[in-house]
Amino acid sequence: MHKARLAEKILKNLNTAVLVREAPGQYSFLGEAPPFYNRIFPQDADTGGPCTTPWRHSSMLDFFFQMAEEFFAGGSEGMISSGTWEEDNICEIDQAMVAEAMSFPGAEVITVRLLTDAYAERVALLHAVRSELLERRILHNDLEEYKLKSTIDGLTGVLNRTAFMEELRVRLQGDGEAVPPCALIMIDIDHFKRVNDTYGHQSGDLVLIDMGRILLGKVRRGKDLVARYGGEEFIVMVQTRNQRAVFGIAEKLRISVAGHSFGSLPRITASFGCTVHVPGESIEETIRRADEALYDAKGSGRNCVRAHWPKINSS
Ligand code: GH3
Ligand code: MG
Ligand code: MG
Repeated sequence: MHKARLAEKILKNLNTAVLVREAPGQYSFLGEAPPFYNRIFPQDADTGGPCTTPWRHSSMLDFFFQMAEEFFAGGSEGMISSGTWEEDNICEIDQAMVAEAMSFPGAEVITVRLLTDAYAERVALLHAVRSELLERRILHNDLEEYKLKSTIDGLTGVLNRTAFMEELRVRLQGDGEAVPPCALIMIDIDHFKRVNDTYGHQSGDLVLIDMGRILLGKVRRGKDLVARYGGEEFIVMVQTRNQRAVFGIAEKLRISVAGHSFGSLPRITASFGCTVHVPGESIEETIRRADEALYDAKGSGRNCVRAHWPKINSS
């Protein structure tokens, strides 16, 4: 992914604005205004229209800017903050990432985050950094760690849905023979709501963690993919176009789940829906078939595998 796009994504997630200090007292937005822009500065104080130079319209921000100017003028290192509000770790990480991703040689960059205080008043917290200082730190690791984290589901350790879809899209590019074989297995835990209701949400979470482990343990590392598709739904991508093989793998997974001991919980089962990808069709289309098959499996009494093969014979 292009660095600028990655940075943009990170910033959107973190609700952070990045300002470049072009000259003393002169700042400009880097890229698009952040999502909170219109919430803090809905209107231009003079024209009543959309605010174009928001940072001049808030005495609070003017105060921060003064601090920033002093910071830069004093040749200070590191970062400044208002000191009023609690900082979370991510602030440091995002500054590092922004600096790394954007790589402004020698430029001065400020990141602004929107925080809310106990009275739910909107307050902007200003951090200023000198990117050339940050570049000297070991920023690369932070960036890599963030990228890794953003592809992995926090609870189960398998891929998250976005990363799974992106990976599939990359893999399934090309035409005809060039498209590698791919089969999808959609998995949904049976009566999971009951587990939560009877044993508590934490026990439910432990079941999800175990599910991730079972699935990961049964597929080929580096070849196949396992992802958490939704709350208690998982999806497995297997590199084959052979329908019998796919069904066999799904059945193997089903037996592993049904035979697993989830601590003190009674037996837990899952339903499975599988299909194969037809070269040229969209991933959404393949997923739709797997989902229909899963629906069939639920309708057939659960704890079973059903398949919806494409009309065109692809095996
Ligand atoms: P079915 O056999 O038809 O799939 O029934 P079900 O109860 O599993 O299906 P339903 O979709 O009604 O319930 C899914 C439940 O999964 C509801 C939701 O509370 C729970 N869930 C979703 N995400 C999580 C999570 O991260 N942790 C826990 N503990 N529960 C979750
Ligand atoms: Mg479900
Ligand atoms: Mg379910």
